[in-house]
Amino acid sequence: MRQLAKDIDQFLNEIILKAENQHEILIGHCTSDVALTNTQEHILMLLSEDSLTNSELARRLNVSQAAVTKAIKSLVKEGMLETSKDPKDARVVFYQLTDLARPIAEEHHHHHEHTLSTYEQVATQFTPNEQKIIQRFLTALVGEIK
Ligand code: ZN
Ligand code: ZN
Repeated sequence: MRQLAKDIDQFLNEIILKAENQHEILIGHCTSDVALTNTQEHILMLLSEDSLTNSELARRLNVSQAAVTKAIKSLVKEGMLETSKDPKDARVVFYQLTDLARPIAEEHHHHHEHTLSTYEQVATQFTPNEQKIIQRFLTALVGEIK
């Protein structure tokens, strides 16, 4: 049992190392040839699916509004995003992807799909009963960490 506790400790610490300053963990390498942060790519992906405001983006990404503002600013500067104001409320700004940004959003989406299918592949190495136990374990662990 003590060994399992140590393994969990090591697992969580490895996640921290892998995550560095990123807001998410993805398996495999980014194949986009434009140097953007994960957060910037994720913003492009979200905006390609939905029309979102600054505060909605912050909520979805679980980062501060200031962090979103900073990421958006450089995306606009790099010609990835265009802004438009809400005709009903000029304080609300919406963002649209440029042609330059669309393939990056697509690539990021595929990267997420690849990550999920990797986890699925790992999970199928276990019997359905074992998978249920793993799920219970993860729920309990996340409950403690939160
Ligand atoms: Zn990418
Ligand atoms: Zn992402």
